Amino acid sequence: MKIAVVGTGYVGLVTGTCFAETGNNVTCIDIDAAKVKKLSGGEITIYEPGLEHLFLRNLREGRLHFTTDLAAGIKEAQVIFLALPTPPGKDGAADLSYVLQVADNLGDLLTDYKVIVDKSTVPVGTADKVHAAIARKYKGDFDVASNPEFLREGVAVDDFMKPDRVVIGTTSERARKIFRDLYAPFVRQGNPVLFMDERSAELSKYAANAFLATKITFMNEIARLCELFGADVDMVRRAIGSDERIGKRFLFPGIGYGGSCFPKDVQALHRSASEAGYQFRILDSVMHVNEAQKVYIVPKIQRYFKGRLEGRKIAIWGLAFKPNTDDIREAPALYIIDALLREGVEVHVFDPEAMGHVKKLLGDRITYGEDQYEILEEADAIVICTEWSVFRTPDFEKMAAALAQKVIFDGRNVFEVSQMQDLGYYYESVGRHPAAIMD
Ligand code: NAD
Repeated sequence: MKIAVVGTGYVGLVTGTCFAETGNNVTCIDIDAAKVKKLSGGEITIYEPGLEHLFLRNLREGRLHFTTDLAAGIKEAQVIFLALPTPPGKDGAADLSYVLQVADNLGDLLTDYKVIVDKSTVPVGTADKVHAAIARKYKGDFDVASNPEFLREGVAVDDFMKPDRVVIGTTSERARKIFRDLYAPFVRQGNPVLFMDERSAELSKYAANAFLATKITFMNEIARLCELFGADVDMVRRAIGSDERIGKRFLFPGIGYGGSCFPKDVQALHRSASEAGYQFRILDSVMHVNEAQKVYIVPKIQRYFKGRLEGRKIAIWGLAFKPNTDDIREAPALYIIDALLREGVEVHVFDPEAMGHVKKLLGDRITYGEDQYEILEEADAIVICTEWSVFRTPDFEKMAAALAQKVIFDGRNVFEVSQMQDLGYYYESVGRHPAAIMD
């Protein structure tokens, strides 16, 4: 099948590459000429495990193309996926200008039947708006469907190739047939392709992300209680996670959720609920708790150093909002760095993939290390913000030799408390006992 993907970011590039991998001929379109040039030349623009290999193979074998020319890119396509940004706009509502602008352009360009697919996360009613924008100019036959994307950065290729489910919102039988064919190779193990109306599909994506953000936030509040009551959140997590009704996943407490999706999707769902006259109270709390959670480790650091942070050197391990991605959008590390800089701390950072993006944002306000040990030289403390695997079993001797003080604030519960106690660290994590008594 001939496919066009408009927008070649995290979702667009993974979508385009994975559809090419199952034999389709895919053209990815982006307005960012520099990005298109890199991609056409075989240079991958995001870090995503397993993607580069597939990307290069499909590029080489001529099934994957990149262009800035929307007209040429969609000309032959039967299906056009819109994987465009939907950032928070006014009052937290999703900004649909990217999607509607392209829909408007498509109105000028369509000449035959095509299915236009909203893959971006968009509020309920967007398929109708996209349809109306195209229909203003194009009077022929076309369908607009909603096919929200559930992939997770860091495991995006696996998620796309073996989705738990595919959600398709369209009542058009002609479009359904195309989707059945397109997704058949991805659901060979029997995972469902769920056909529904456009509005239910649009709401499903927000409901999924809002639920997951709520689950994380609930555990973060339980972790706070554990600290107050002297309980251990690891034990509580295991105890409740063994209950199948609750499930083991998304129960790990930490310094809050970030990324390009949860914060904006929770906000957007809350906003569209209130526009529809409904006050989504749980989401009010989720947003407030998460904002506070991102920096809740900072007062712990202040307390340990008795308020004297000025001039101290603090090393940050991890900048990305989660491991296995270079994405720093809404990353808790950025909020912590900002708070520490305001206290006069000298901040040194290391992340295996995300340093380039942070350099663009913060420049020389902080210092970047070549590796995780270099930044520990004479440091007063380490703050762990992302649970990259390389941080899990580090060279403790090397760490001890470099650090000025053996102090760790772990925002991701990477280490066992008993282990840190044995190694002689002052160690504070989330929802667990500290590893040494403050004097
Ligand atoms: P992104 O910012 O990484 O990529 C968007 C791309 O669109 C950029 O390359 C940009 O240059 C391009 N673009 C902007 N305007 C354009 C135009 N007029 N024509 C062509 N290209 C244009 O965004 P993303 O993370 O891929 O997210 C895209 C959508 O998918 C959002 O709605 C997001 O909420 C949703 N989503 C994201 C994820 C994720 O993990 N990142 C997961 C599921 C859903």
